[in-house]
Amino acid sequence: MSCQKISVLGATGSIGLSTLDVIARHPERYQVFALSGRSRLAELEALCLLHKPVFAVAADASSAQRLQASLAAQGSKTQVLFGESGLCEVAAHADVDTVVAAIVGAAGLRSTLAAVEAGKKVLLANKEALVMSGALFMQAVGKSGAVLLPIDSEHNAIFQCLPGNYSRGLAQVGVRRILLTASGGPFRQTPLEQLARVTPEQACAHPNWSMGRKISVDSASMMNKGLELIEACWLFDARPAQVEVVIHPQSVIHSLVDYVDGSVLAQLGNPDMRTPISHALAWPERIDSGVAALDLFAVGRLDFEAPDEQRFPCLRLAREAAEQGGTAAAMLNAANEVAVAAFLQRQISFPQIASIIDHVLNSEASTAVTCLETVLAADSRARALAEQCVNRSGEA
Ligand code: NAD
Ligand code: MG
Repeated sequence: MSCQKISVLGATGSIGLSTLDVIARHPERYQVFALSGRSRLAELEALCLLHKPVFAVAADASSAQRLQASLAAQGSKTQVLFGESGLCEVAAHADVDTVVAAIVGAAGLRSTLAAVEAGKKVLLANKEALVMSGALFMQAVGKSGAVLLPIDSEHNAIFQCLPGNYSRGLAQVGVRRILLTASGGPFRQTPLEQLARVTPEQACAHPNWSMGRKISVDSASMMNKGLELIEACWLFDARPAQVEVVIHPQSVIHSLVDYVDGSVLAQLGNPDMRTPISHALAWPERIDSGVAALDLFAVGRLDFEAPDEQRFPCLRLAREAAEQGGTAAAMLNAANEVAVAAFLQRQISFPQIASIIDHVLNSEASTAVTCLETVLAADSRARALAEQCVNRSGEA
């Protein structure tokens, strides 16, 4: 069997490290071609020494220089690139088979698109890239023949519950609805009046999953589920009305597909991202992921409830953006990124995340996405508007 050569973009993050854990279990199948990281240079260096990639990608020229010197002094042959051009180079490199897109936020857009345009097998964690550029992204997949596999646990579950020929259209294969499960995050039962006082530490303390800080806050606000709703519409060619969000606090069912004959298929497992990552890496085969077998007796029960949009206004805002189409999703995503960063820096309160996004979406009508520039321009305008809101809230 020939070894799959893999570029892991965002290797120092939560998804990146889980991916490298799986890869290291199967050296006969997978070989690390490139690793990238932004701020944790010492971690990136340690990963390079362990996985011996051909390339590493650092944030900028000066960190690349430092990393290169330190690696060379230790006898490493890894060549260090930097910046967005470095990321795009290792994403589209002729020697690469598979790209794991695990950078967080809009920062991953160009490199994820570069992998798609080069026709790679692309394991998508960076949902923000697809949410922002939707139609352009899927057109690029169609044109290049890239194999796009979701590693977001819900979308990976849906993919596993759909028949192999689902791209004919959901109605053609008898799908009535997609049921997207959500844990409800740490504030599912917090009294509403206390939400204005919750801290970044509380928001990042997810009950079931251990994740990066941005997605942890998104899970607490349920914007993560909103972004995932948009992600599901693009991945599976679904209308927003065909995707229903179900709160399932145990995070054991990762999502379900409801068929017209009354059958509902679900994918279950322990909440550990190594399961969807292994599934996508080996697809259509199955490999050991290191995840323990699910103990249903220990789980005991599975609960379900409808989401409360008063508690989680971000979910409503995302659904509205999905229905509007065009640049609305890019604006939603950009406003959310700015607001979440401001919340993490204690500049705004938790409920202000939703009110800032609402303000930004109301400031400008959505327009058609014709090219990447329209997406990037909408992203910039939304960021500027959201930053004004953050600054005003600081003056208040
Ligand atoms: P994280 O914060 O742990 O890691 C992010 C990675 O991206 C790091 O390697 C960081 O160095 C890199 N990065 C950040 N900003 C960058 C920039 N401006 N330029 C280049 N690189 C940059 O995040 P994570 O939890 O691993 O999430 C990564 C992506 O996967 C997100 O899009 C998230 O929504 C998605 N995702 C994560 C999980 C999870 O369990 N963590 C589950 C599903 C989907
Ligand atoms: Mg998810």
